[in-house]
Amino acid sequence: MAEARIIDGKGFAASLRARIAVAVEDLRTRHALVPGLAVVLVGEDPASQIYVRNKGEQTREVGMHSVTHRLPVDTSQEGLLRLVNQLNQDPSIHGILVQLPLPGHIDTQAVLSAIDPAKDVDGFHVVNTGRLSVGLPALVPCTPLGCMMLLKDTLSDLRGMNAVVIGRSNIVGKPMAQLLLAADCTVTIAHSRTRDLPAVARQADILIAAVGRPEMVRGDWIKEGATVIDVGINRVPARDPAAAAAGKTRIVGDVAYAEAAAVAGAITPVPGGVGPMTIACLLSNTVTAACRAAGVAVPAGVGL
Ligand code: NAD
Repeated sequence: MAEARIIDGKGFAASLRARIAVAVEDLRTRHALVPGLAVVLVGEDPASQIYVRNKGEQTREVGMHSVTHRLPVDTSQEGLLRLVNQLNQDPSIHGILVQLPLPGHIDTQAVLSAIDPAKDVDGFHVVNTGRLSVGLPALVPCTPLGCMMLLKDTLSDLRGMNAVVIGRSNIVGKPMAQLLLAADCTVTIAHSRTRDLPAVARQADILIAAVGRPEMVRGDWIKEGATVIDVGINRVPARDPAAAAAGKTRIVGDVAYAEAAAVAGAITPVPGGVGPMTIACLLSNTVTAACRAAGVAVPAGVGL
């Protein structure tokens, strides 16, 4: 059995950003439309600060309007809701992203529900969740959207395939399952209470791992030739014992990559697979939201 084809998410994300940059320039010149993304960060969580900086940089790189609001950790819920409302009213802003997690004194659901669904580029508002589940045009959460783009690029026609999604979070697992269903897959959602998970996983022509447990999915869980999408991002000690003792770490996925690559037909690496697709899909969603707001067709190659 040949080694699996590596699904190059990093390369795909770069080409998606390039297509978005062309589309943004075209929207600006032909429709005087500049898609705008506002990112709101409350507090100083170091990982969130990096994500927010990257989002701002990539938004500007493709020629879009980018605004970042950094609020102190003790911002009140009312203060945050006031800002969301202002952004809802602002015609230069087509996408609003409130970086999660929010500090404990703020009701996350109340804030997400306050975002205008038409500007909800994270796709977490129940209106978008509902629209996705009934097959209406929706803004789709960025990570599963990115997985779906990679799957369509790898397999082109997913109809009738058995897809198993491990993980049932609102951010990844559930919307992923909805997208696979919409692509006519036969979908199983597995989770922490699933009985005999390896046997369930072995049924999959398409296996999505979105669990958050380092290298949980072993090679013998994978059907020969399956397409494996590893969403997990887990920090573990460095391989070299001296480096590990010095506190050095590395990132691994939810799939034991080397074992899986020996059996699968195609597989995403970690890092360099799903991860880079997430921000690229945020940009894609912002262009989609801007086009829908302006009544302009979404340019080809930007969405799913
Ligand atoms: P989550 O913690 O919200 O959900 C994890 C899911 O895994 C739960 O539904 C749970 O039922 C299931 N689970 C837990 N233990 C299990 C077990 N032993 N067997 C089977 N199922 C089990 O996590 P999430 O937000 O969905 O993220 C999942 C992973 O994806 C994490 O590693 C996260 O860092 C990563 N992630 C990556 C991106 C990206 O941009 N690539 C984006 C979001 C999340």
